[in-house]
Amino acid sequence: MALMFKGAVSDIVVEFDDSVVSYLGAHTSLECEVGGQLFAQFGSSAVVIKKITQSPVLGKSKRLLFQPDRTIEQTVIYSMFKDGYHYVGDWHSHPEEIPSPSATDLVTIKSVFINSLHVLSHLLLVIVGTRSLPCGLFVGLQDKDQLEICNYMTALETGKNSDIKPDTAI
Ligand SMILES: [Zn+2]
Repeated sequence: MALMFKGAVSDIVVEFDDSVVSYLGAHTSLECEVGGQLFAQFGSSAVVIKKITQSPVLGKSKRLLFQPDRTIEQTVIYSMFKDGYHYVGDWHSHPEEIPSPSATDLVTIKSVFINSLHVLSHLLLVIVGTRSLPCGLFVGLQDKDQLEICNYMTALETGKNSDIKPDTAI
């Protein structure tokens, strides 16, 4: 089932496609952090995450220290773009029930936002914990200054799609 989240300040709506939700649900990890990239298509009222990848890790993957190989990631960004998918952010797992970003995560996503080539106003930081989804999912939107928390939208809220402003592409 697709899951939708909404930025607490920006009202940007982020939708996780069925296949992406299943993938995240199958990649909870107690042993070491795994992670990768998120790719989306921009709908009229939401950013729809349709592709998710797992990135090769530089050196040894250590618990609580996910360090992807950024060179390989850049290659993936180009090939996804050719297929019509836009790089919109990163995901990784945390060995905790309800995940929240570590101090390192906050520094990393901000530096990715500032240093990577993109035309977006925000980049997504998604963390998957060990609890079932959506409880075990942290979704944040990083801009040049801060990380904005996104809240899970209940069925009632997602039914009110007419309230959502069009063209909320990030
Ligand atoms: Zn983390």
